[in-house]
Amino acid sequence: MYNFSYLRKSIGLMQAALLLIAAIVIGLGLSAWQLRSALTEQRDALGEHAAELLKLSLSGATSAAWTLDARLAREVVSGIASQEGVRASEVRALLRGNAQERLARAENPPTVAGTISNWIAGNYFTVVARVRSPLYVSQQGVPLRVGEMLIAMDPVYAADRFVTQVYTTLAVTMLEAFLVGMVLLLLSQWLVTDPLRKAAARISLIRPEALDENERFIDVPPLHRSDELGLLLSHTNNLLDRLVESQRELRLLATRDALTGLPNRTLIQESLATMLASATRSHGKVAVIFVDLDRFKTVNDSLGHGIGDKLLQQVAATLIGQVRGEDSVGRLGGDEFLVVMPVASVNDVVIVVRRIIDALGHSFEIDGIDLRVGASLGISIYPDDGDSVDMLMRHADLAMYKAKADATTRWQLFSDDMSQAIDAGVWLENALAGAVLRNEMQIYLQPQFEAAHMRLSGAEALLRWQHEGEWIAPDRFIPVAENSGLIREIGDWVLAETCRTLSAWPGRKVPISINVSARQLADDGFVERVHRTVGRYEVAPELLRFEITESTLMQNLDQTRAQLTRLREQGFRISIDDFGTGYSSLAYLTRLPVDELKIDRSFVSGAQRSKIVLSTIIAMARALNYEVVAEGVETEAQRDELIGSGCDLLQGYLLGKPMPVDEFQSRFSLDQTDSKANQTSSKLRRIR
Ligand code: C2E
Ligand code: CA
Ligand code: CA
Repeated sequence: MYNFSYLRKSIGLMQAALLLIAAIVIGLGLSAWQLRSALTEQRDALGEHAAELLKLSLSGATSAAWTLDARLAREVVSGIASQEGVRASEVRALLRGNAQERLARAENPPTVAGTISNWIAGNYFTVVARVRSPLYVSQQGVPLRVGEMLIAMDPVYAADRFVTQVYTTLAVTMLEAFLVGMVLLLLSQWLVTDPLRKAAARISLIRPEALDENERFIDVPPLHRSDELGLLLSHTNNLLDRLVESQRELRLLATRDALTGLPNRTLIQESLATMLASATRSHGKVAVIFVDLDRFKTVNDSLGHGIGDKLLQQVAATLIGQVRGEDSVGRLGGDEFLVVMPVASVNDVVIVVRRIIDALGHSFEIDGIDLRVGASLGISIYPDDGDSVDMLMRHADLAMYKAKADATTRWQLFSDDMSQAIDAGVWLENALAGAVLRNEMQIYLQPQFEAAHMRLSGAEALLRWQHEGEWIAPDRFIPVAENSGLIREIGDWVLAETCRTLSAWPGRKVPISINVSARQLADDGFVERVHRTVGRYEVAPELLRFEITESTLMQNLDQTRAQLTRLREQGFRISIDDFGTGYSSLAYLTRLPVDELKIDRSFVSGAQRSKIVLSTIIAMARALNYEVVAEGVETEAQRDELIGSGCDLLQGYLLGKPMPVDEFQSRFSLDQTDSKANQTSSKLRRIR
C-alpha cells in the first residue's frame, strides 16, 4: 500500500489532494454524461452523413441506372467512396423481369482501430451505417423504378473518431482538475498552511517556564485579523497571557512569605547566590545577617498568634527601613529573618547592624499594647567566612546563637572558633546527657531578703554545670535540656539536691525556690515525684517554692493550672518568675493558684518601661495579696526605690550572688541551731 501519511502533515496538501480527487470524480461523471449524448449525436451524424451523400448522388445514379451507363455509375460511386468515412458505394440497375445488375461498386479498405473503437462501432454504429435508396424516373407522370443506390459508411472510422474525441475530453477534464487543485493548493498554502505553520513554529519556541509578560506571543497576520485563524491566534495569546498571570502569582506564592510579603527562604537564598556571583566578579564582600527576635515566643504564647503576626509584620517593615535598595531582607520562618547586602567593609556591616538593633529595640505598638522584643544578630561575611550560600547562612546562624547566649552583646560576627562549635547543640546535648551521673551539676543558692528588715527570708536554687573544667551558663544548657527532654532528669536531681540540702541544715531552715520548666510540668507524674522526693527527705512542703515563668504558665494553661493546684494543695508554694515579660494580665492571675510574683530583672534595672509601671505592678500585686519579689537588685538606688514601692522581698547581686551551698550555709549561720528560725518561717506563712 502506498503511504499517504505525509499528506496528513499538511492541511494544504491534504486539501489539494482531496480537491483533485473530487474534481476528477465530478469531471469523469460529467464527462460520462456528456459522452453518452455525444455518442448518440455521433450516431445520428453518421446516419445523416450517409443520407446526405445518398441524396447528393441520387440524380447521377438514377441517370446511370436508366441509361445503363456503367461509366457514369462508376464516376458516381468513386466520387462517394472518396469521401471520408465511406466504406463502400454501389449502383444497381433494375432490368426487365425485376432482375438486378450491379452497374458499379467502389470500396475503401476498412479502418483499422483498437478494441474500444471496434466495440463501439459494432454496438452503436453498424445499424445506421448502411443506407439504400431505390432510383426512380418519371414516365409521363408515373414513377418508374430503374435501380438502387447503396452506401455503407465505415462504423469503425466513426467510432475511432469518437474515441479520439473522448480521450481529448478526458485529458482536458484531468488537466482542469489538476490546475484547479494546484491553484487551490497554492492559495491554501498562502492563506492557511503558511500562517499556521509560522504560528506553530512561534508557539513551539515559547518556553512555558520563561514567559515574558511584556511580549505579545504570536503576531496575528493583518490579513487574518478577523478570520478563524486570527481568532485562534488571539485566543492562544489570551491563554498565554493568563498563563503568565498565574505563573506570576504562583511564583509570588512560592517565593514570598505570605504574612510579611518578604522574600521567603528560597528567594532570599537566590538573591544571596546572585550577590555572591557578582561579588566574585568584582572582588567585593557580601554580608549575611541572621536576625532572631528575643522574646517573640513569649508574645506569641501569651498574647496569641494574631498579635504575634502583627508584630512580625511590623518587624519586617522595620527591617526593610534599615537597609538600602540593593540589599535584601527575607523571612526564614518563625521569628527568623535574613538580611543580605553587598558591603565594602566590615565597618559598613556594623553600622547597619547597630541600626537594626536600635530599631528593633524600640517598642512596637500593637492593638494598644506596647511590645518590646529585641533581637539577636549573627553576621557572616563573604568571602572571609564562607563561599557558599549554605555555609554563610550556617555561620551567620551560629554567630547569632553566640550573640543570644552572651548577655553583654546583641550581635556577633562569625569567627573561626565558632565553626568548631558547628554542632554545638548536639555536642552540648551529648555532654549534658551524662552530666548528672558524672556529678558535674551543683546547685548554687542566691539569698532573698525581707525588704523591711533586710533579714534573710529564703534562697533561689540556681543550677550550675561544670563540664571538663568549663562553666557552662544555664541560659545555654537549659534550653538544650528542655528541647531534648533531659530537663526531666536534671529537674528531678535539682529537686532531690535541694531537699537533701534542706534536710541537712541542722537548725534554722529557710525556704528554697526551685525553677521548673514547662516540659517538667507537662509531665503528668511530676506532682507524684515531687511528693515522693519530699517525703524521702522529710522536708516540710512550705520550705519549697516552685518558680514557673509567666510564659510557661500561659503555654498550656489548663494542665499547668491543674498541676499547680495539686502542688499547692499539698502545701507547696507557687511563684511566677520573670513577671512582666509575659504580658498576662494581673486579673487573669487571680484565678491561678499563685503565692508570689517575681518581678523581672528588666523592670528593676529600668531597661523595661517606666518606674511608674514598676510601682503600679507592685501596688496591684499587693492589693491582690501576692507576695512580691524583686530580682536583679544591683544598686542601692534600686533597692531603696523597691522598698519605697512596697516590695516584700529582694534578691540581687547587691545583696548576695548565687553561691555554693556550703558558703551559703556558713554565711547565714544555717549550720547552727537557731531558735529564731522558726519565727522567720512563721512570719512567711503569715503572708497570704
Ligand atoms: P531566672 O530564674 O530568672 O534566675 C535568675 C537569674 O538571674 C540567675 O541567672 C541569677 O544568677 C541571675 N541574677 C541574680 N541576681 C542578679 C543581679 O543582680 N543581676 C543580674 N544581672 N543577674 C542576676 P542564672 O543562674 O544564670 O540562671 C539563668 C536562668 O536559667 C534562670 O533564670 C532560670 O530560668 C534558668 N535556670 C537556672 N537553674 C535552673 C534549674 O535548676 N531549672 C530550670 N528549669 N531552670 C534553671
Ligand atoms: Ca527563677
Ligand atoms: Ca527570673
